[in-house]
Amino acid sequence: MIPPQERAHVGIIGGSGLYDPGIVEGAKEIKVDTPYGSPSDYIIVGEVKGVRVAFLPRHGRGHRFPPHSINYRANIWALKSLGVKWVVSVSAVGSLRWDYKPGDFVVPDQFIDMTKNRRHYTFFDGPVTVHVSMADPFCQSLREKIVEAAGRLGIPVHPRGTYVCIEGPRFSTRAESKVWKEVFGADIIGMTLVPEINLACEAQLCYATIAMVTDYDVWAERPVTAEEVMRVMSENAQKAKKLLYELVPQLSGEPEERKCSCCRALENAIV
Ligand SMILES: [Zn+2]
Repeated sequence: MIPPQERAHVGIIGGSGLYDPGIVEGAKEIKVDTPYGSPSDYIIVGEVKGVRVAFLPRHGRGHRFPPHSINYRANIWALKSLGVKWVVSVSAVGSLRWDYKPGDFVVPDQFIDMTKNRRHYTFFDGPVTVHVSMADPFCQSLREKIVEAAGRLGIPVHPRGTYVCIEGPRFSTRAESKVWKEVFGADIIGMTLVPEINLACEAQLCYATIAMVTDYDVWAERPVTAEEVMRVMSENAQKAKKLLYELVPQLSGEPEERKCSCCRALENAIV
């Protein structure tokens, strides 16, 4: 049994540059164990404007886990076990189009999985088999709330986008980057969305991503310095904290059944 002071309603998974939201009142660090091992770090639980939240840095503090070594199953399981209903995932991405500029935020509505089968993609390894629908992989209701909150704060936000998830940890070649952009029609690129989103769906959580553009990927033939990327990342992290502070109070209620089907993702999915 989870004691009430450790329960949470909203889960936040912080990406590169966001290791501590700095907005959680009464913050307490708790260690959560799962059947899949330990999550990436201690989980910070507390409140944001009266709403119970649980914050987990995806890579662990100090960025200890590269994208392919993250225990995604333990991370999602841990949040679910705390009672979380909504999961706001924050991640740094590269842009594949000129009008999605460094410093802009994107709320993707589709993804393409180009990871290489070295990750655990499901909680159901048999004998129970589950085929969840991924036609509309993100929670529509949560996406709308993120876009509205960003709009109120004047943060440049793109309400749609296709996220191509590559294996990493290396970045793309120029040839690959042009394939993602021109052949796949993807808008942004990152390394961590899959299988986090698959598992969130199986756990019947409402999941959406705040993707923060740090730079143009190599297709743009526009070299950037590490300093430039670091500066944009740090500004993005500050904006993300403001956005979370605005967003979380909008998530005080239960996900509405009529507005999304995330919480019923396993209906008709078990074989
Ligand atoms: Zn939902």
